[in-house]
Amino acid sequence: MTSDPPPSALSLQHLTKRYGPTLAVQDFSLDINQGETLALLGPSGCGKSTVLRCVAGLEQPDTGRVLMHGRDVTGLPPEQRGVGMVFQDYALFPHLSVLGNVAFGPKMRRVPKEEAERQAHEALSLVELTGLEDRRPDQLSGGQQQRVALARALATGSDLLLLDEPLSNLDERLRGELRGELKDLLARSGAAALLVTHDQREALAVASRVAVMRAGQLVQVGRGEGLFAQPATAWVAQFLGHENIFVQPDSTALVVPEQALQLGQGNAYTVTTQTLTDSGQNITLAHPLGPLHLHLSPREMALVEGGTLRLRVDEGRVLRVREDRDGAGSQPQQAAGAP
Ligand code: ADP
Repeated sequence: MTSDPPPSALSLQHLTKRYGPTLAVQDFSLDINQGETLALLGPSGCGKSTVLRCVAGLEQPDTGRVLMHGRDVTGLPPEQRGVGMVFQDYALFPHLSVLGNVAFGPKMRRVPKEEAERQAHEALSLVELTGLEDRRPDQLSGGQQQRVALARALATGSDLLLLDEPLSNLDERLRGELRGELKDLLARSGAAALLVTHDQREALAVASRVAVMRAGQLVQVGRGEGLFAQPATAWVAQFLGHENIFVQPDSTALVVPEQALQLGQGNAYTVTTQTLTDSGQNITLAHPLGPLHLHLSPREMALVEGGTLRLRVDEGRVLRVREDRDGAGSQPQQAAGAP
């Protein structure tokens, strides 16, 4: 006898949400498994936070359902959903100690003081802040405040965590460091996590699966490397950082990944631009497909001879995708008269 698989930790079914004339989220469906971190990735204004707010109960979808472990919570207020949230600005209480901030959730749930503080200590140990319990938020670094916010979400004991751009208030260096840390912490917590971000690197570094969102709709979901290797459309390819995308006459586009470029073989093409970087050179080649961008290591730079570079494009590795970059709502509006 086979038993049914357990229901997803979180299941979003056909969510739609309007704000007046703005269709913020449109027929959005997604499932997250227990223990999984999923990143909701998309440009600013595409509806990510609205999805998150519908999950938290801070916003009511116009249509569609939110299920947690198979239970329909769509009509429930936030406090009855039991999710842990980490906001962009951390929203720590400035007048409470670190311990007070983290124990706040359990105390609100009427957990006795001693037990609430035990849970807070446990969460603080998980984020490696033991020893800083008595400090106030303004006596902590940005990274430490971020970890307090995460500990506070963990101390809710919830098996579903919602994180809204949790690293965006930190400087670039710290953000890079904390990505790996956040991934480990979330894995250790065993919770399902929905992470909202507009930062491709953050999504790929922290989450095991990434859902790409554009103009209120889900456009592609998959494992991070898989998405980059197999973007569904030209817009996804460009958004994830592919540089060589060439429009074809038939509304498709060719995406040429770096692995398709074989240097030092084939025809010689003229180098049209050349810029030094800290790890080599960025160059542009006049290729029949169009201007082709390459990053050359110092060793590869030796292959440039007389202003040309030999290059073969391995056609087996070139992707043909749908060209969707000039559809409605996809590009920032150009001001009248702009080039
Ligand atoms: P993201 O999180 O991807 O930046 P949001 O979910 O915040 O996007 O916003 C999606 C769209 O809905 C945007 O066009 C935004 O201006 C609009 N929007 C969000 N919240 C409100 C609101 N409370 N009232 C009116 N429009 C809103």
